[in-house]
Formats: sequence, C-alpha cells, structure tokens
Amino acid sequence: MKVRVAARTDIGRARQRNEDAYLVHEPLFAVADGMGGHRGGDVASSMALESLSIPEQDSADTSAALVEDIKEANRRVLERGEAERDLRGMGTTLTAVVTEGEKAYLAHVGDSRAYLLRDGSLQQLTEDHTLVQRMVREGRLTPEEAAHHPQRSIITRALGVEDEVPVDQLTLDIHAGDRLLLCTDGLTGAVSKQRIQEVLEQEADPDRAVERLVEEANQAGGDDNITVVLLDFHDDQAVGEDEGSGRTVAVVPDRSPPSSSRDAAPRQEGFPRGEPLTAVMSAVPAPAGAVAEPGAPSKEEAPSPPSPAPPRRIRWKRVLLWVAVAIVLVVGVLVGGRAYIDRQWYVGVSSGRVAIYNGIPTKALGYRLSHVEETTDIDAASAERLQPYRDLAGGITARSLNDARTIVARIRGDLATQPGGTG
Ligand code: MN
Repeated sequence: MKVRVAARTDIGRARQRNEDAYLVHEPLFAVADGMGGHRGGDVASSMALESLSIPEQDSADTSAALVEDIKEANRRVLERGEAERDLRGMGTTLTAVVTEGEKAYLAHVGDSRAYLLRDGSLQQLTEDHTLVQRMVREGRLTPEEAAHHPQRSIITRALGVEDEVPVDQLTLDIHAGDRLLLCTDGLTGAVSKQRIQEVLEQEADPDRAVERLVEEANQAGGDDNITVVLLDFHDDQAVGEDEGSGRTVAVVPDRSPPSSSRDAAPRQEGFPRGEPLTAVMSAVPAPAGAVAEPGAPSKEEAPSPPSPAPPRRIRWKRVLLWVAVAIVLVVGVLVGGRAYIDRQWYVGVSSGRVAIYNGIPTKALGYRLSHVEETTDIDAASAERLQPYRDLAGGITARSLNDARTIVARIRGDLATQPGGTG
C-alpha cells in the first residue's frame, strides 16, 4: 500500500502560541496537543513526538513497540514537568499511527482524534478521553450536548500527568482509497463531523483537503490551535502521482506566526529506519528562553515569577475541588442564614389577626422566610388604626419571642383603652 500524506498545523486566531505538533515520517504519523503554562505545552507535545521511534521494518510487534514508546514519552514528559519550574504541570495528547503493508496500528491518549473515510462514510476511530465523553458513555449527556458543553475540553487522560497511562490501541485493515485523518481538537471542536466529511469528499487532493479543513476551523473562530494530518492509501501499482507530496518527511510545527508560508516547517529526508526520531526533531531550534536546570534552582529562586498556572485541560481535579468549596460555602450561607432567620421575630398579621412570626418579613426566591409562631384574637385592622401599629402588616420587629409577646400585650392594652376597641 502506498501512502500519500499531507499535514498542516496552524496557531488559530485566539492563541498566543501553537502548542500542537505533528510528525510525518513514513510509516509513522502522529499529532499531539500540548498543554501547560508558559512554554509547557510546546515542550510537552514536541517531547512526546521525539520519544516515538521509526519502527524497524518487519519488526516483531509494531503495535507493542509503539505503545512502549508512548509510555516512555509519558515518563519523560512527567519527569521534566516535575523537574523544571516553568514546565510544571505540562502534558499532551498523542494520537499516532504506524502503517505496515495492509495494516495500520493506532495508539491514542487524550482528545485528539483519528477518523477513517471509507466508502463515503466517516468513522471516528478513537474515543475522546474527556469528562464529557465519559458522561456520554454513562448516558448523562447526549453527544450533541457534549459537543457544545462548556467543559468539553477537560481531559481525563494525557501524557505527563501520572506515572502510568493507559494507551488505547486499534489495528486497522487498510483498503485502497481509504483516507485516514489525524487531528487535534482545534479542528473537531470547530468543524462538525458532517462538515469534515464533506470537505474530505470534495477535495481529492490531500494538500488541498488539509488546507480547507484548517480554513474552516479558522472561519469558525479559530479558538484553538489546529493540526491536521491526512493519509491517503493507494494500491502499490497506482503510482504516477506528483511525487512531491508523497515523500517521507519529518515535520514539527512551525512555531512562527500564522502568516508564514505553509511549507515553512523544516523537512528532512532519508533517516535510517530504527533510529530514534530525536535526531530529526533536534534540527528544530530550541524554544527561546532560559531553561531552568534541575540541579541549580537557586538562580530562579530570588525574584521568582509566579509559578505557572496548571494547564487548563487537566485541571479537572481542581475544578472538582472548587465545586466542593462552592458547595460548602453555599451550604454554610444557607445554614448560617437559617440560624440567623430563626433568631428573628416580628409581630404581623395572619388571617386578619395580630400574630407573632419567627423569621424575617420578606421572601427570598419565592420562599417565605418566616412562619407564624403564635396567633392571637386581636383584630389586625383595629390595631393598624392606632398610630404606633400602622405598619403592622409590614411587620414590627421584636428582639425575641418574649419581646414579641410584650408588643402583643401592648397592642391589646392600647386597644382596650381606645373607645370602641376590641376587648
Ligand atoms: Mn487543542
């Protein structure tokens, strides 16, 4: 099977930097979506790709080797994130595929995706490791609700977060004419599956298809970095295509601003099989800015900048913590408020009679915050005709139940001394 590949990454329209990365080095293809404060996201996604090695031809177990590489990537990202202050909390998604003859081996962690276009239908091959996807599986959200959920980018699995990471695996039988799409959530969060399929069906040329997908995501707002890798599979004999875009290339994202030309990313060829890709990736200039040495933190110590915020997408534990804190606060206010209300008393009117209320003479959110404690036989209208009690209907505040009873006794006494008062 021959592979023709097109790939593109774009910063989008809202982000300061592109933390996505991709790798194209036949037979290995991958996308990674990094996250983390400062330059953490860049480093994490690049490191993950650097940890992947080009499989040996006819290696015993391609799939197992790929998963081992990914687990190693997880350890490296985690260790470096723990060692370097400004990389703390970094992480990355990774969706990778190795092609071998008629087979494609996929491995996946996070919320980037792989899709297969075959015989006019587009099928999502990977499952998002996100909170909303978990809720969909549990029947608590519909897929439609999940697609627009405000917390849809909270991921439950990433490289660089925990010591061990489960890696999803899938082996695919490849047919001539298949199109395999790897992409980050910058595409899938902005462009519907339906629309992605339409573009893939309209654009036979993979370069053009990839370009169109990125355009569509940007037109939808470009809220996130967008990365797309598209593999077109052809029969071995069906060659004769433009050799230019089918060659073996290793590419990392162009970190420069989005205005740069589409081929600005460095391309290298002819890497021996079995060699780790680190050699390829190191051809890319290291990110600017001093790197804190793990053994020499003193330099950083004195006027240390505020430590970087943990990555937005793996803060779900923190989100849960804040939800818990919020619940405690609300309950506290309710309980405290309740205790306060229970200590309040007033004299008011109930069914036309003077009555003693416990609580405060108001409503909150439609709930009365008081109840009648004691009723009397005193006619309220008569009492309100007396100057001191004209606001009786609105409630006359008392300091205690006894105080309220004293007020009632005074009303009774004042009415008794009035001509025509009740008695
Ligand atoms: Mn993203």
